[in-house]
Amino acid sequence: MLTVQESLAIVTREARPLVATSLALSRAAGALLAEPLYMDIDSPPFDRAMVDGFALLSADARAGASLRIVGRQDAGGPLFPGPLLPGQALGINTGAPLPAGADAVVMVEHTRVEGATVMLQRPLAAGQGMQKRGADARAGQRILEAGQTLHAAQMALAAMAGAAQVAVRRARVAILTTGDELVPIAATPGPGQIRNSNGPMMAELVRHTGAEVLDLGVVGDREADLRAMLERGLAEADLLLVSGGMSMGTRDLVPPLLTELGVAIHIAKVRIKPGKPFIFGTRDGASGRKYVAGLPGNPVSAFVTFHRFVRAILGALTGERDVDRSSAGCTTVALEANGDRAFYRPCAVAVDAATARVQLTPLAWKGSADLFTLGQAQGLLIREPGAPAVEAGAVVPVLLL
Ligand code: AMP
Ligand code: MG
Repeated sequence: MLTVQESLAIVTREARPLVATSLALSRAAGALLAEPLYMDIDSPPFDRAMVDGFALLSADARAGASLRIVGRQDAGGPLFPGPLLPGQALGINTGAPLPAGADAVVMVEHTRVEGATVMLQRPLAAGQGMQKRGADARAGQRILEAGQTLHAAQMALAAMAGAAQVAVRRARVAILTTGDELVPIAATPGPGQIRNSNGPMMAELVRHTGAEVLDLGVVGDREADLRAMLERGLAEADLLLVSGGMSMGTRDLVPPLLTELGVAIHIAKVRIKPGKPFIFGTRDGASGRKYVAGLPGNPVSAFVTFHRFVRAILGALTGERDVDRSSAGCTTVALEANGDRAFYRPCAVAVDAATARVQLTPLAWKGSADLFTLGQAQGLLIREPGAPAVEAGAVVPVLLL
């Protein structure tokens, strides 16, 4: 049985960045940049008013000065022919370009207007109320790094840089849940049946990483059906994510079928609780390297192994920066010594307002099927193999969800 660290090292060794694709920015949300992005123009692209008021020459801007209003400049409006001369002021609104000669903008709140004259109530220095062209970024400047995710702010930045098309990596992930006992969520389970919790959970976990989901649905524990669906997932996706049928029960068909389909299994069991029967494999073929992650059927085990291993796999496929989200916090209760498997225990996470400390409160551990506890968790408190007992207040590692 491998340790968590050994397993992660195997993932790092075996998982390679996907071929980058070019996508319209509008379709790339959540994908990871395959190349850095650069500004193509200065930002702002012109000297720009940052307040509503009057553009003027700072040399004129003494308290009590009166200036002659010679027109106005609106954002996106026709350009004032300029230049602005000493003694003159130009009405201007936020985002509008300053006329040549102007080097400050007085807020309308700090003026008094009488007809075509504006009086300043306080002095103003050069550069106030405005931004110089290129103050934020220069043309050619690198603004985003390869491996950064295109979340909302990065999308806005890419748009500002004119990146209508972006080179990204986005994994396509096939999701397959297995088990004869599973019924659809809208059904009332009959004797011996349960609803498929893992399907929606895995889909959301995958989507949240920015990857694309190919939902292969549920398949029963029948060899022929299972083989066909596993092959389809391998053919149509970069990563095939399977839940259930992973351990050594008589109906646990997934590992031998994967081997039969040409998958090299690098990880078959990990010293982790919950989640021991986790599988990681690869298959090399004409369309490149394909990956398989097999998650235990128990939902909490599937959840934990996803966060610990599948995120690492997807991070390696997409070249994600900062893929390690391990952090630390103070346990609010004493913890007993841990056994020989790493223990990823659902916990509540809070920040203490007085001390600004991250506080971790382990939730009642009722086993690897206990979604009721997991539903209240914001983190997974990590107990390393053989970790000694600690008092309340001790700093312990955590994976933030
Ligand atoms: P298995 O890994 O197939 O041996 O399943 C372990 C446990 O997880 C069994 O109690 C299964 O009924 C349960 N299980 C398997 N698949 C799912 C699923 N998709 N949703 C909820 N529970 C599941
Ligand atoms: Mg099963």
